[in-house]
Amino acid sequence: MATIGFIGLGNMGGPMARNLLKAGHKVRGYDIFKGSLAPFAKAGGEIASDLTETVKDVEVVITMLPAGEHVRNVYLGEGKIIDSAPRGALLIDCSTIDVQSARGISAAAAASTGQEVVDAPVSGGTVGAENATLTFMCGGSAAGFARAEPILKAMGKTIVHAGAAGNGQAAKICNNMILGISMIAVCEGFVLAEKLGLDAQTLFDISSKSSGQCWSMTTYCPVPGPVPTSPANRDFKPGFTGEMMVKDMRLAQEAAHHAGVSTPLGATAQALYALYCGRGGAEDDFSGIIRLLAGK
Ligand code: NAD
Repeated sequence: MATIGFIGLGNMGGPMARNLLKAGHKVRGYDIFKGSLAPFAKAGGEIASDLTETVKDVEVVITMLPAGEHVRNVYLGEGKIIDSAPRGALLIDCSTIDVQSARGISAAAAASTGQEVVDAPVSGGTVGAENATLTFMCGGSAAGFARAEPILKAMGKTIVHAGAAGNGQAAKICNNMILGISMIAVCEGFVLAEKLGLDAQTLFDISSKSSGQCWSMTTYCPVPGPVPTSPANRDFKPGFTGEMMVKDMRLAQEAAHHAGVSTPLGATAQALYALYCGRGGAEDDFSGIIRLLAGK
């Protein structure tokens, strides 16, 4: 069992850190928002008062922070962990951030202390974090991945090595760009069906077994009824918020711009989710965009 420093005990990091404790690891946690600390302490976690104390003498550091700027600050800014964590420590960032920052942090650690960094963003949401069923998409060396895998197994079910540093983030944003676009396609199908007098359940029964089948249809159906667990059945309570989808679509567009690739449906989807957020959907589930597309 490892000694782990965990930074960022929010909606995702909180349950993930508790699953590490459940698996028998010794976990020291830190969050600038003090409200996040109580559930972690109650689960047996040790609370640290700053970054340096969090990473002192640990074997592994895990970060689960909102965005690239927070991650860059923690790894490379004042009190940076690439300096304060032990030289042999494995640094795993599970946040969703831009590919360039992930690669920059890995290169900075290699140049400075030689620490191994693995970017390991997740899919599966807060339910996956609670149930330790997350999917981790990992970027880093084969040796770094081999060290990260048994730790990540305590928090997830599917752990995939996507290649060199930054490739975990690349996999995450490509996947979420597909998701964001496919959700809009499914919504448009249901909006059109309603106008054509075709019952939503009937469209689902046919399309979920036909070539329109996809995750947005069969697991996360944006109309109430066909998939009882989807957010459409609880007035689009998230789930995965509109704001989070805008963030991931923006990351995909930045990456596309950087790579000189045209992703016109991704660009349109980003604009539509931004509009949805501006119209009150930021805190609702992203699949609630069906209301915007239906003109409701
Ligand atoms: P969150 O805002 O609930 O948690 C982030 C935590 O980081 C907060 O508690 C915040 O106080 C803390 N924090 C910020 N700066 C800090 C610092 N300098 N030092 C210590 N703590 C700091 O966010 P979340 O929902 O847990 O998401 C975390 C990451 O996971 C994001 O990158 C998000 O895109 C990604 N993600 C979220 C979901 C989801 O469903 N929530 C799903 C997949 C991926």
